[in-house]
Amino acid sequence: MEIGHRLNLAVEAARSPFWFTRIYSNPKRLERFREKRLREVVRFAYRNVLAYRELFDEAGIDASRVWDFDDLTRLPIIDKSFFRSRPLEELCSERGFGQLTSRRTSGSTGVSLLFAHSQRNRLKRILVDLRANMRLGLKPHQTHMVVASPEAMLRGRNPLQKIGLFRREYVSADIDPDEIARAVQRVNPHLLQCYPSHLGLLCDVVNRDRLPNLSRIISAGEVLTVAAREKIERAFGVPVSNYYGLKELGMIAWECDEHDGMHINWDLYHVEQMAESYQLVVTLLDADAMPFVRYNTLDRGRLDFSPCPCGCPFPRIAEVEGRSDDCIVMSDGRLIPPLRVNFVDFTGHTQAEAYQIRQIRPGHIEILLVPTASFEMSSCLSRIRRDIDMYLSPDLAFDIKLVDSIPRDPSGKLRSVVSLL
Ligand SMILES: [Zn+2]
Repeated sequence: MEIGHRLNLAVEAARSPFWFTRIYSNPKRLERFREKRLREVVRFAYRNVLAYRELFDEAGIDASRVWDFDDLTRLPIIDKSFFRSRPLEELCSERGFGQLTSRRTSGSTGVSLLFAHSQRNRLKRILVDLRANMRLGLKPHQTHMVVASPEAMLRGRNPLQKIGLFRREYVSADIDPDEIARAVQRVNPHLLQCYPSHLGLLCDVVNRDRLPNLSRIISAGEVLTVAAREKIERAFGVPVSNYYGLKELGMIAWECDEHDGMHINWDLYHVEQMAESYQLVVTLLDADAMPFVRYNTLDRGRLDFSPCPCGCPFPRIAEVEGRSDDCIVMSDGRLIPPLRVNFVDFTGHTQAEAYQIRQIRPGHIEILLVPTASFEMSSCLSRIRRDIDMYLSPDLAFDIKLVDSIPRDPSGKLRSVVSLL
């Protein structure tokens, strides 16, 4: 790393405590700070990134006249297809950023994409992540363990971890739950972060007495249902907090101890909720190598701007319902969000180990089940039909298919609904 770049990083790191406190205490200051960042981002994207320049020109947008978040709503919305349509150099500015870190998204929808960010942006992501963990009680001498995709394990240690603070241990989500449980017990972390589907499996195999340090569990990467949360809290005897993030953008929102929605890291991300689709559209408030301006995550959620009793001034995402491309599509075009599927007690009714819904055509689903020895097809059919009528739709047809196992995404995630439409 060149000297000038190192110096920039050091200055950014030294400023960051102010970056936290200055804007945290005063809502007006926070808004001014955010607007300033927005202007920087939009102008930077226009000047340095070809794809944005063409996008704004085509839409007739003068980037120098975007002043606040009202102006932002006039800009076009982009999604993954925007990043897919061009080579990386047209989506990125390498000007003055030094070495870029690239990250490939998991491709759970069959398409994997390469995203890049600078060391400076990485540092900011680490800091907002740390801020959330610290608000949830993590101390500098404590250990944070993450069950994640094998790719995350290759990332190496961040500057704080290199000097022995906020130790972080990884274990691959790819391995057997028994093996994950043994690794977790060996490390005995204070904070354990994991996909809820893995936590559900760990509930049955982990020995709670071997985890005296554990004070909190973070559920991330998939939708956390009420039932899953209760099961995990009962099994581990500690509270569960939900995090919402995207690999390409970092950790966007986290749940405080009020457990009533997730606070958006409002100083680094601006989030809009689309009126009809409830899709969440994110702007990264950092003029970074690869800007994100009005990026549609395709995740559905509801924003909550009411004050939170915890005192954090950041608005909340009340609920993330899951990806809109995982919605079940009915024959008449109606959409059923994937979260609703979790109300149907597939595994309870059928004594199955695991399940997955696959949509083959509109109005018709296939339910994959991994049966146990006590599985009996005839008794479960009527119960599933009743639940589907009640929670999803009486018009939804289904078939049941017995399988040996449910395949996970490349990142290790287990999705309850996969659309093959
Ligand atoms: Zn709160």
